[in-house]
Amino acid sequence: MPIDNATIAAIATPPGAGGIGVIRISGPDAAEIAQAIFRRHRRAHPQGAPLDLRASESHRLHYGLIVDPETHERIDDVLLAWMRGPRTYTKQDTVEISCHGGPLPLRETLRVALAAGARQAEPGEFTLRAFLNGRLDLAQAEAVLQVIGARTAESLRLAVSDLAGDLSHRLEPANAALVSLLAYLDAAADFPDDEIDIDPTGHRAGGLIAVDHGLAAAEEALAAVIAGSHAGMLYREGARIALVGRPNVGKSSLLNALLRADRAIVTPIAGTTRDVIEETINLSGIPATLLDTAGIVETEDVVERIGVERSRAALQTASAIVFVLDGSRDPEPGDLEIARLLAARAADQQVPVAIARNKADLPARGDLTSLLALLPEATVISLSATTGAGLGDLEGTLASALRDGAGNAQPAMISARQRAALDRALAHVHDAQEAWAVGVPQDLLATSVRAALHAVGEVTGENVDEAVLHEIFSRFCIGK
Ligand code: GDP
Repeated sequence: MPIDNATIAAIATPPGAGGIGVIRISGPDAAEIAQAIFRRHRRAHPQGAPLDLRASESHRLHYGLIVDPETHERIDDVLLAWMRGPRTYTKQDTVEISCHGGPLPLRETLRVALAAGARQAEPGEFTLRAFLNGRLDLAQAEAVLQVIGARTAESLRLAVSDLAGDLSHRLEPANAALVSLLAYLDAAADFPDDEIDIDPTGHRAGGLIAVDHGLAAAEEALAAVIAGSHAGMLYREGARIALVGRPNVGKSSLLNALLRADRAIVTPIAGTTRDVIEETINLSGIPATLLDTAGIVETEDVVERIGVERSRAALQTASAIVFVLDGSRDPEPGDLEIARLLAARAADQQVPVAIARNKADLPARGDLTSLLALLPEATVISLSATTGAGLGDLEGTLASALRDGAGNAQPAMISARQRAALDRALAHVHDAQEAWAVGVPQDLLATSVRAALHAVGEVTGENVDEAVLHEIFSRFCIGK
């Protein structure tokens, strides 16, 4: 992505027809480019009157026409918003033109804006400028992506707080501790003969800095955010919940009942597989993809085998498992076989299992003792996919099991890139702690502290190179 000072323009709204569509123009020549293609509506001027944006008040709307300056042809009736920098998203002069929301008015308006001197914006380039011009730090810029991609109200709330600078705020104690440690260590290196040697208690002569306290403060702040990243991941990426069980126990009915209760508030994700039906529900704020292992038609003779095989496949990727039983019948050998599979999986990797005793509207039958002996940790919930009774219990059980699994820390909505940088920062802090403990020379200690500080800076964007910026901003859509 070019990092230049061109005036950029793009369609900022999604493709397709809508009420309005917005063209964004930002950069030093935004006013001139907009003026070249815009005419105010004036009764006395059937062709429209020119507008002098530089002379007009900032953050005002103007009603008028987009015209092609070459042919004088009218393109659309629009509202033009003029916003003088630095009080804009990019901190540069910005014009937003609200056209009618169809592909042609937008495409034509963009075309004449480009002909008038704008350059087509790259994906994420407006946000890149917001970052480069100091409007957002990198953690906030990445939060923009999370806000756009939020799948539940809770994910949105967490992303918006990062957009407001929460993540950088949470990392500030680590940053501050490392900065003051480094300042001290550098001073000690520059003036080795001066009386600022680190004394055995870890205090600077004069008592200003305790190396071990500084490192411990940095460690604590970093570890807290890293711990929160598991919970953040849960709200951002969501959980995968496998519904397993023999044929006819009510897996599909249960899936549909859960969807009926929640579907309206969740955006489905793309990528439904062929052999397993995937649908996403909102599980107390966690976007949860349900994997129905009864997705395809079963053939008579291999019914049992297919049920078990599909269960096995879905199990591999699940973060929680709902083992559905027909509570109106005695457990069958197939149920026990699945229970054995689940027991192996649970021993392998900690995955919470909820046993859904379905069909609770019918008289209950069956003794679960042998099943529960295989799955002693499982929570049993009686429910009915038909009446909806007990569905809330199941959802509550799953949500709290998933939150427990994520460590119950304050969620940090960080990207994989940010997580990797924080892991590195923490590793360098640990190196520094070890070095301090065994009394290695201060310049080596300083090297680890500097490396930790650098890694923290990669999260907030103080230390990133162009390749990293490109990687981050290319994940944005055009116009953002
Ligand atoms: P799957 O093969 O496990 O997906 O099971 P289905 O969802 O197709 O259900 C099998 C049969 O059980 C269907 O006839 C459903 O109507 C019935 N069923 C499912 N859940 C309930 C329930 O809670 N109560 C009753 N009475 N019948 C149910």
